[in-house]
Amino acid sequence: MHKYANKKLSGIPESIFSTMSRLAFEYQATNLGQGFPDFDGPAWLPEMAYQAMKEGKNQYAPSPGIMSLKQNIAEIEKKYYNLDWNPLTEMTITAGATEGLYSIVHAFVEAGDEVVMFEPFYDAYQADVILAGGIPKYVTLKKPDFTFELDELEKAVTDKTKMIIINTPHNPTGKMFSKEELESIAKIAIENDLLVLSDEVYEFLTYGEKMHIPTATIEGMKDRTITVSSTGKTFGMTGWKIGYICANAEITEAIRGVHQWTTFAVNTPGQHAMAYGFSQMETYLPSFQKEYKAKRDLMLEELDKTKFKAHNAFGSYFIMVDIPAGFADDVECATKLVKELGVATIPPSIFYGKSDEGKSMLRLCFAKKDETIIDGIRKMGQI
Ligand code: PMP
Ligand code: GLN
Repeated sequence: MHKYANKKLSGIPESIFSTMSRLAFEYQATNLGQGFPDFDGPAWLPEMAYQAMKEGKNQYAPSPGIMSLKQNIAEIEKKYYNLDWNPLTEMTITAGATEGLYSIVHAFVEAGDEVVMFEPFYDAYQADVILAGGIPKYVTLKKPDFTFELDELEKAVTDKTKMIIINTPHNPTGKMFSKEELESIAKIAIENDLLVLSDEVYEFLTYGEKMHIPTATIEGMKDRTITVSSTGKTFGMTGWKIGYICANAEITEAIRGVHQWTTFAVNTPGQHAMAYGFSQMETYLPSFQKEYKAKRDLMLEELDKTKFKAHNAFGSYFIMVDIPAGFADDVECATKLVKELGVATIPPSIFYGKSDEGKSMLRLCFAKKDETIIDGIRKMGQI
């Protein structure tokens, strides 16, 4: 790296998603690694984006996002969760949840501040906190149910802690935090006057066994919770990079202070198309969830025929599997799979800051065509 490069960058590796997708390409492997669908979202979305383009909606959008999109999101929040957000002052459209996470962390985390996150964590949390000069502190979600010990969380919080990061439904484990778990986190957040960043990008990728509980709905939490979501997940269009943040007006003001200097505004025709998308949720969502549930079940069924033991996934589009005996760690197993058997997975040890648990697992993504799932898992079956 260049001698003048920000020294904090040396503590942050290349994204494992980029590494594994590059290897998948190099070895012509079936890609069950990086989390994105290998099929398109609904065909009417590009139609709506093109229509917006033809109507001349091609210049900068307002920095916090176009009003119709924010209004439609506010309606969804009300309808599904009974949450009231003012689209004028409490909502910000971001360039994917990724930019949302960056803007939130940089709006609040200063040098020396501590941020508590559950591991395995989504890698951007750690990178964002380090780039902001903050210090990540980890609480382990332990196999087989990916539960945490309250005591460990209590000990992780110090007088330097500013924020706790939750992700539910959870990438990479498919865990959905229960009401009791969220309430116990809320109690600690309230007692210690902490902000809670709740990454809920997979809020609609749930399969009927457990209900998604937004952190902001827990008593006493609405005014200290910053919720991030992504149309990339909900509408299966990850490449459009349209995310959003809901948080009270004071918090939103700080986040917008960073957002205006990162992307300023998000692509205009895409926002118009997504505004339409949210207006169609009632008819769209049941078929979307049915489609993904069938994919999850297909992957579980195929995995059952292999030596990789699956942990059930209640939400998100990921499944964690235990690696069979004979491998030193997850990286060795993932390397053999991609280079020799032609299937890319994600070795999750990189999502842990203190525990070694990740070394015994791999993460698989089931947002893939049925033939991709069958082909990939059958290749894994050769071990
Ligand atoms: N949070 C989690 C938990 C994710 O899995 C992802 C992405 N895949 C993101 C945030 C980023 O979302 P986006 O693609 O909208 O930037
Ligand atoms: N969130 C996606 C995953 O978990 C990847 C997003 C990215 O590559 N930045 O695989």
